[in-house]
Parts: sequence; C-alpha cells; structure tokens
Amino acid sequence: MNIHEYQAKEVFAGFGIPVLPGKVATTPEEAEQIAKGIGSAVVVKAQVHTGGRGKAGGVKLAADSAEAREKAKAILSLNIKGHPVKKVLVVPASEISKEYYLGVTLDRRAKKAVIIASAAGGVDIEEVARETPEKIHRFHLEGPRSLRSFEARAVASKIEPQSEIALKIARVLKNLVEVYWASDAGLVEINPLVLTPEGKILALDAKMSVDDNAEFRQPRLVAYREEESEHSQTVREMGLSYVPLEGNVGCVVNGAGLAMATMDLIKHYGGEPANFLDIGGSSSPEKVAAAMRIILSDSNVKVILFNIFGGITRCDDVANGIKSVLEELEVKVPVVVRLTGTNEELALQILAQIKGTEPAESMDDVVKQALAHTVSSGRV
Ligand code: GDP
Ligand code: MN
Repeated sequence: MNIHEYQAKEVFAGFGIPVLPGKVATTPEEAEQIAKGIGSAVVVKAQVHTGGRGKAGGVKLAADSAEAREKAKAILSLNIKGHPVKKVLVVPASEISKEYYLGVTLDRRAKKAVIIASAAGGVDIEEVARETPEKIHRFHLEGPRSLRSFEARAVASKIEPQSEIALKIARVLKNLVEVYWASDAGLVEINPLVLTPEGKILALDAKMSVDDNAEFRQPRLVAYREEESEHSQTVREMGLSYVPLEGNVGCVVNGAGLAMATMDLIKHYGGEPANFLDIGGSSSPEKVAAAMRIILSDSNVKVILFNIFGGITRCDDVANGIKSVLEELEVKVPVVVRLTGTNEELALQILAQIKGTEPAESMDDVVKQALAHTVSSGRV
C-alpha cells in the first residue's frame, strides 16, 4: 500500500525529519488560498501514487497565489501514467544548493534492510544506479534495529564532505530508519533531500509504502488510504488486481499470467491495453460487474475485452456479471467475449440473450476482434 507525499511528510515530520509546511487542495481556488496564506513563491505538486511527477509536468513553481491557481488548474487536469490528479500539495518553494537521495528498503537477496544514499539526488535513482553505480552507497542493517549515530555519520560522510552538513544529514537518516521500522514500511525515500543556501537540510519530497501484511498493525497509515478514490476501495473489497494503463482496450481477465499474455497479444497486434485487470481465481457476478464499471469509467476505453479461462472461475458467473452491467448501464462500447471452460455452454446462452456482446472463439480472435473496434469503433 502506497501513501501520498503529503501523508508521508506528516509521518516523517512526526519522527523529526524537517519538511516544509504545506496543505492539500482539490481545486485551483483552494490552491490559491493556500498560496496566499504562505505568502511567498510556492511549489504545486500532484498527489498521485506514481513516481516521475516532475517529468510529467506534475510539479510546478508558482511565484504568487494567482500563478498557483493557474498551475493547480493545469496539474489537476493531468493524468499521470493512468492516474488522474485529484489533489495537489501546495508548499513554500525552497532554494536548492544541493540535492541528495536517501532511502531505506528491503534487500530481499541479503534478507536485510538496506540504506541507500547518494549525492546524485533529485533525479531518477534507478537511472543513477544503471549509469553511475559508483555514486550509490549502500549500508545493510543486521536485523530490525536503529541506526547508530556513528553509522549514520559514516553513511552521510559518503555523500557530503562538509562535516557540519553531513551531521544534519546523519540525523535525518537515523530518523528515516526509525520511520521504516515503526511503519512496517516496504520503502521510505527522500528524493531530493536538499541543502538550502542558508545551510538547512530539508526533505522536499517523501515517498513511502507499507507492507500489506502489516496493515493490522498500522491503523494510522491505513486511515490515510481511506481518503483514496472509490476505485481503490472497490478493487480492494472485491479482491481485484487493477492497474490503469494508457491504451484504449479495456481488459477483464482471470489470472495474472493470462492477463499479461492477453496484454502481450494486444501489443503484438498493434493495440494498447487500457489496463491490467485480474478478477482472480474464484468469481462472482458482482466482482465481474465491479471490474466492468471501473473500466467503463475510463473515457479512453473504446472496447472491452473479456478473456476468461474457466476453472474455479465459472463462465456463467462472468456472463451474469456482464449481463447485469449491460442491463443497468448504457454501455456505449462493444464488449468482445472469449470464455472457455467451466459452464461455458451456459455462459454462451446467457450472453446470447443480451445485446451488446460479441463472442470470440479463441484468444487470438478476441484480441483481433477487439482491435477492429478500436479502428472502426461503434456498437455491435
Ligand atoms: P517527483 O518528480 O515525483 O520525484 O517530484 P519531486 O517532489 O521530487 O520534485 C521534482 C523536482 O522538482 C525536484 O527534484 C526538485 O529539483 C524540484 N523541486 C521540487 N520542489 C522544489 C522547490 O521547492 N524548489 C525548487 N527550486 N525546486 C523544487
Ligand atoms: Mn522526487
């Protein structure tokens, strides 16, 4: 489970990590008011569960409150890697002398937590690791324990030669390790941690994920998730695996392997999937209907493709789910369905009784038929 930057900053601040005070807005007007309250230049930042916001135009500097409103308006209309921006964080702008990277995560191979530190902050850390691996410093922690002050200083001195500044970075790092353990985190990351011209150290960005298996121990962090969209709630409650993507072929598939194979085939025939969606091993008409509604809320979707291999999943459950949505909503896109296996005959009978679906014989056919609709479009 991921939490937003503004939420992670609240957590970090609670552990003594210096962050700038900001507020969240859902409208341009709200952003303007917050910027007015701050009274200086601000940075407006998209709050979405994906990285690389800066590159996607989701982080913008604004000189005054009027500009903050404009920038917020632009950012709130963005869709960053399939995530529509619903909230922006408005924070005082900071001057930057240097940018560092600090992170703590699990090194699965070493079976230990690992601290990652770099003087090359502010950019994509995966890129730094690939192109200039010597700029990345790692420090493993034996068991779940605090970082000792001398260890924190040793790591900090690798990324900052001036001892006074390194000491400040060491303090942040020690606290970041505390956040990591206390939150059952999968990752805690500050990129960039910055040095200001006045010699202050500040976390300008904050990223944090929490181990799903530890949710019962983290009620406060789980409460952050409650603020999320209705989709994520449906996805969680229905036990779906859903990842929005940028194409126009909506996919409903059972099993992650089949879902990926289906996406590969769509690509193979020159199309682009609008999502990854795995309805899981068992099924119910409600689950299928929920999946379809989520896909239909994506305005890019030109066709919905079902690829179902009935084992424990019953094809008639899937057909009944499709039926309920087609009867309830005015579905403007064609629904191409390939299903095979348990109760296939029954499913085909159900689908034959309703309008709006188009049967396909094989996996190859379902993809080709779906793609034909993305060119010609129009209802069947
Ligand atoms: P990300 O792209 O999603 O990682 O978003 P960040 O919060 O890391 O912002 C991207 C980049 O914008 C940072 O690396 C900074 O270089 C820059 N940035 C963010 N906040 C400020 C700020 O307050 N002042 C200045 N000058 N630059 C900022
Ligand atoms: Mn960042």
